[in-house]
Amino acid sequence: MRATVGKFVFVTGGVVSGLGKGVVTASLGGILRSSGLKVTLQKADPYINVDAGTMNPYEHGEVFVTGDGQETDLDIGHYERFTQQDLTSSNYLTTGQVYWNVIQAERRGDYLGQTVQVVPHVTDEIKRLIRRAQEITGAEVSIVEVGGTVGDIEGLPYLEALRQMRDELPREDTAFVHLTYVPVLSTTGELKTKPTQHSVRELRALGIQPDIIVARTPTPLSPGLREKIALFCDVAVTHVVQETDVESIYEVPLVLRSEGMDEKLLHRLRLRARPGDLTPWEEFVQRLKRPNGRVTIGIVGKYVEAHDAYMSIVESLRHAGAAVGTAVELAWIPSVAVEEDEGVLQSLDGILVPGGFGERGIEGKVRAADYARRARVPFFGICLGMQCAVIAFSRSVLGWSGAVSTEFSPQGAYPVIDLLPEQGGVEIKGGTMRLGEYPARLEEGSRMRAAYGRELIVERHRHRYEFNPQYMEEFRRAGMKLSGISPDGRLVEAVELVDHPWYVGVQFHPEFTSRPLLPHPLFREFVRACV
Ligand code: GLN
Repeated sequence: MRATVGKFVFVTGGVVSGLGKGVVTASLGGILRSSGLKVTLQKADPYINVDAGTMNPYEHGEVFVTGDGQETDLDIGHYERFTQQDLTSSNYLTTGQVYWNVIQAERRGDYLGQTVQVVPHVTDEIKRLIRRAQEITGAEVSIVEVGGTVGDIEGLPYLEALRQMRDELPREDTAFVHLTYVPVLSTTGELKTKPTQHSVRELRALGIQPDIIVARTPTPLSPGLREKIALFCDVAVTHVVQETDVESIYEVPLVLRSEGMDEKLLHRLRLRARPGDLTPWEEFVQRLKRPNGRVTIGIVGKYVEAHDAYMSIVESLRHAGAAVGTAVELAWIPSVAVEEDEGVLQSLDGILVPGGFGERGIEGKVRAADYARRARVPFFGICLGMQCAVIAFSRSVLGWSGAVSTEFSPQGAYPVIDLLPEQGGVEIKGGTMRLGEYPARLEEGSRMRAAYGRELIVERHRHRYEFNPQYMEEFRRAGMKLSGISPDGRLVEAVELVDHPWYVGVQFHPEFTSRPLLPHPLFREFVRACV
């Protein structure tokens, strides 16, 4: 294998899923980046889906979209937020993608008659994609997270590929970090290290010896327990790092740094770097934990019990709250409940209708948008949320009771949200939406323009349907400002109400680009309006 310039940190997980491996990986990226290193992060998802676009967000959490239009796992969102940098499609790989490439190569005849196998062909492709991300980004350190937990059948080719990389590269070019769980027994209050021992044993059976064990634990580990883990797992006791439970995920980089994680990794990788400065991050966490006031924002969605489906929106509201100096309390409101009774919207300081697909609960979202207009409550509609605001406005203000989105009602008298003729039909579902970054021009004197402070913006998209351009003039005349328009004048990217405290709908997804230290201007202004 060709020598690469950069180093690799491989993050695996054991014991149980849901330990926050993505946040740990993102935090490692954040602290190494604060040391002035050029860092990139990559997630390997062991699913046969080619991308996350076709995966149910109520099961897997939100589909995060990169600037170049890749539909990814929500961990990529954590990576972007914690390292405060944009990532691209090369930072995400799935088993489906890997096999797709291998099978295409086989069909082209690239393997010259060989029998195509998991080892070496699939593992070679995994290694190629991992090296490629480093080459594209020029990163000094690539942090690669393997999805799932050690022992899953699906993860085996990845672990084998990483094992090979460790052997092929100089010893100081790779480090393995293994995240485990040290539970407390409720009966005796005792911390138990056996699950950690088992998961490390499983990893070692695959030929991988971890360099650092991150032990997630509800209460601090005693020196004796650290020694026990070190002994049974064959790592230095200094390399057993505890990750105690914290209130906010944004404290995780601080917890890991206080355990000396950055020094340990730098030392392991023989990297000379100054200790990072996390002061701005600490200040952000302080602002988050010590708010001056409180606002309650209602999120009206299809299946609101699955909060991970709205991950980036929740985080964007937190960033905005910290910037404005208020705690943001979330009220999760199922849209079917609004369909029955809009009373559930009373006493909210603001209403947010997020993106979504499918007809269920759509009338509740339209009603929520209508209620916010009448009750003069700050309103923020995102993607499907904007489309609902447009439908509500056409029905109530323009008097078009037959206004619909053709996504749900192909026969409505006023198809105010529609597929544009040039889009054709929707036969193939995967990767066929308007995805990734598109520019828009903001109208002088609009709320949009005031929030961004500039005329030309670029935002990330993920949708099929559009504001029907044939109705633009009627909306303008009736008092809905079309405040963001694509440079060619054809696509409506943002709408707002003139005679309202704050009522904005956007066709794009601002939540994908909000960062803790740089909140998105629309979330910031929305939360400010709610205060
Ligand atoms: N379902 C809508 C569309 O495809 C909105 C998508 C979204 O909210 N992300 O246009």
